[in-house]
Amino acid sequence: MNPSRRRFLGHTVLLPSALSFPALLTSRKSLASVVRPDQVEPDFWQQRRVIQVRNAGSGVRRELCFWDGSYQEPACQEIFQLLADQRDRSAQPMALDLFNLIYATQRWYSLATGKSTWTDIHSAYRTLERNARVGGAPDSFHLRGAALDGRLEGVSLGVYAAMLKSYGAGGVGLYPQHVHWDVGRPAVFWSSFGVA
Ligand SMILES: [Zn+2]
Repeated sequence: MNPSRRRFLGHTVLLPSALSFPALLTSRKSLASVVRPDQVEPDFWQQRRVIQVRNAGSGVRRELCFWDGSYQEPACQEIFQLLADQRDRSAQPMALDLFNLIYATQRWYSLATGKSTWTDIHSAYRTLERNARVGGAPDSFHLRGAALDGRLEGVSLGVYAAMLKSYGAGGVGLYPQHVHWDVGRPAVFWSSFGVA
């Protein structure tokens, strides 16, 4: 995915009735009838990208604007720092499309409910040692800073996985306590519940 190329724009005719979407929050099936914010707003990817993220381990949370005409280096560094595992010594750069997906899904939630929400991050960049400790795959995208595990507050994991999946940006995996998403490969979806 490269949202800056506005790949998703120009496909969709907006039906106002599709905007009545509280059902989004309870039903995966209803998601198919929901219009995403980037499909509603032609300049969606040209707007300031503000996200609210929380490190589920440390509880530290920040609201940050990481793109305002271009990526904002200090804010990106602050995000990397925020999400660093508490046992790792230093934060590592991560793929920025991961945060574009956080931005898009938070805005989607806001459009659906009129409220803002937070994304809780359970796991971000992992060192080899950290990856082994948590039983990650040997070639995990977490090792190269291209994956996040987390959840969107107020949304079921199944719905959140479906929201992320709709962008076709890479891998999306549904687990009992979190959703995994990664970027930089063809879209793939899996579920620890055995439902693809
Ligand atoms: Zn993961």
